[in-house]
Formats: sequence, structure tokens, C-alpha cells
Amino acid sequence: MTDSRCVIVDTERVSAPNYAPLPVVISRGEGVWVWDVDGRRYLDCISAYSSLNQGHRHPRIVRALIEQAGRVTLTSRAVHNDRMGPFLADLCAVANMEMALPMNTGAEAVETALKLARKWGYRAKGVPRDSAEIIVCRDNFHGRTTTIVGFSSEEQYREDFGPFTPGFKLIDFGNIDALRAAITDNTVAFLVEPIQAEAGVLVPPAGYLAAARELCRERNVLFMLDEIQTGFGRTGKMFAFEHERGAEPDVLVLGKALGGGVYPVSAVVASRALMTLFRPGDHGSTFGGNPLAAAVGREALAVLVEENLAARAAANGNYLFAALRQIKAPCVVDVRGKGLLIGIEISTKAGTARSICERLLERGVLAKDTHAQVIRLAPPLVIERAELDWLIEQMRSVLS
Ligand code: PLP
Repeated sequence: MTDSRCVIVDTERVSAPNYAPLPVVISRGEGVWVWDVDGRRYLDCISAYSSLNQGHRHPRIVRALIEQAGRVTLTSRAVHNDRMGPFLADLCAVANMEMALPMNTGAEAVETALKLARKWGYRAKGVPRDSAEIIVCRDNFHGRTTTIVGFSSEEQYREDFGPFTPGFKLIDFGNIDALRAAITDNTVAFLVEPIQAEAGVLVPPAGYLAAARELCRERNVLFMLDEIQTGFGRTGKMFAFEHERGAEPDVLVLGKALGGGVYPVSAVVASRALMTLFRPGDHGSTFGGNPLAAAVGREALAVLVEENLAARAAANGNYLFAALRQIKAPCVVDVRGKGLLIGIEISTKAGTARSICERLLERGVLAKDTHAQVIRLAPPLVIERAELDWLIEQMRSVLS
């Protein structure tokens, strides 16, 4: 048995089977590359679902982690620490918002935004107690808590996990008339992803986000964007909403690459008027805003800005997109996405996206299927042209 096989067997004996990983065991990473325990090298086009925008072990981010680990790592919010304020100030500056609430994982940040929206509904909008409604989209992916899976349209995410939190309404993604029709006097928020990445990199019609923004303003509803996966340069702008004029959210939900690929860091950012609805004791997290997370998050932001990773994702995304579109393979039904978030839809006649990902793995490319027929390509944004050319070569051989 190879070392990989041994590790997989030993791991599967003790690990709950809530994932179906590709049969590869990674033991080292650097930049856009990872190595398995047998010494094989792979180009990482999964990037931990867009958490590694800055690449594996970015030297500046690792240095910030180590330096902070040598000072103080965890305080809890029972006291102040000297790292959280500067981190949140930089985050607010990047997001052009006034206040931030730090958490750890994406799902916690989404839960925070949901609580904020309800609180705003009762305290500011005057919605009768316990009647707030939040509108969400079919095929959404916002995380795995019981509240969040309760408003998923994916049967497997819900089955066996009810009863669920009430107060959510599902509408079609990309359909502004559906949003208009769903809003009532009790609607407090519309929560949406600018691109539905997990659903298969679904890009809404141009103008949808700006129209939703405007409608929310007219009807006194909070416009909340989940940019956990699309944020921090991934789509070729710092945030995906910047592709459209006038699509700025009231509440922005962030995670993944905010932790620079080394630590879980998430946050909700919004205006002072909204955020100050939270009072001490309303909400919290033992680890949220800890000094290690704050030091890492601050450096992760600095790297994104100073290395122009959004602009690089735009240029390299266009290049990759054009090359993939040129691959004349009968199995490819569609190539879509923005920046370095690209979905390749495979015809059902050609098998599943998973089978193609397994063939890519054999050629040294890590890519993961999302839903049955779509391969998502999301390499670290630090990828170079020569590496992209190599990736395009592997894609061409496997797809054709
Ligand atoms: N929202 C979006 C858009 C995501 O893509 C994800 C994770 O894939 C989440 C929320 C949940 O984040 P986490 O897995 O960190 O809880």
C-alpha cells in the first residue's frame, strides 16, 4: 500500500464520514502547490473553497502568525486585546463600512447577520415581535448550522435535521420580480450570494444585484451579501458586488480568505447605526476577535491590497476563461464565472464532474466537483502565467 492509502485507511477508521474527499493525502503546501505524503506535487485549484486566495503559507501571513504566537494568542472578549482594533479598522477601510463584528467561521458570520437583521427589524423597522421574515434564494449555500440548512433548498442538507427555525422565504436566484413579490411589511432582509459558487458557479443576470439593492432601499429591507466565498479578490474585484454600480450592501458577510489560509477568521461589517443595535450580552464567541486571528486577518488584508490580488485575478481569470472556452470538447456544456472563480459544466453523457476531477488528480491538478456536473476551478490568486498555462494543458488533455 502507498503511504497515501495507509493514511486514508487509518483516517477513515476514526473520522465521521461526512465528507467524500478525493483520494489524496496532502502533507505540505507552498504558494499554489501542495505535495502528498508520497511526494507527488499538485496545483491546488480548490484553495480550500477560496480560503487560500493569498496562496499556501504566504511568508508575510505566516510571519504575522508566528510573531503573534510569541506574544499572546487568546484573551476572550472579557478583556480588550491590542490586535483586534487595528484589524477591524483595516477591514472596515477595505469594505468601506464603519463597524465590524469578528467571528471564526463563515456559518457563524451568517448567523450573526441573521440576528442583526432581526434585531434591526424589531428595534428600527417596527416589525411585530417574532414575525420577522428574511428572504433567501433557492440553491443558496450559507453554511451548515441548523438555522442555515433550514432555509436550504438542497434536500440532503435538511433531511433528518429538522425542526428548523421559521421566518425564511425562498425565491429564485437572479429574478428581481420574485424578490419584489416576496417582500412584505415584515421583511427585514434579503440575504444573497453575488455568485452562487457552491450551486455550480451560477452568475446572476447583469444588473440583478443593483436592482435588488434599489428594491431593498425602496421597501426598507436590509440588503445582505454573503461574500464569504466571492470576497477578497476572488472574482477580480475586492468584493464581487463591485462589478456593478450601486450594489453596495447594508451588511457584508465575510470569511474564508480573511484568515489568509492559516486560521479561521470571519466577520460581519455594516454601518455604525446597524452594528450599535448589538448590546453587550446580545451575541458573542469565545474565539471571535482573538489576537492571533486579528494579527493574521490584518496581514491577510494587507497582502491582498499590496499584491493587487484582485487585479491579478481579473487579468488571469480572463486569460484562463478564454483558454478554457477555446477547448473544443464535446463534454463541456458551459464555462462560466468571474475572475478566478470558474465553473465548467460537464454533459451528463460524459459522466460526472467527480470522475473528471479524479482524472485531473492523476495529472497533478486538485479540483473539486460542485454538484454533479460542475467542476470548480479556483486557484490561489497568486498563480503565475506559466502555472496557468500548465493548468490549461492539463484541462485540455482531460476534457478532450
Ligand atoms: N457562505 C458561503 C457563500 C460559503 O461558500 C460558505 C462555505 O463554503 C459558507 C457560507 C460557510 O462557511 P464555513 O464553512 O466557514 O462555515
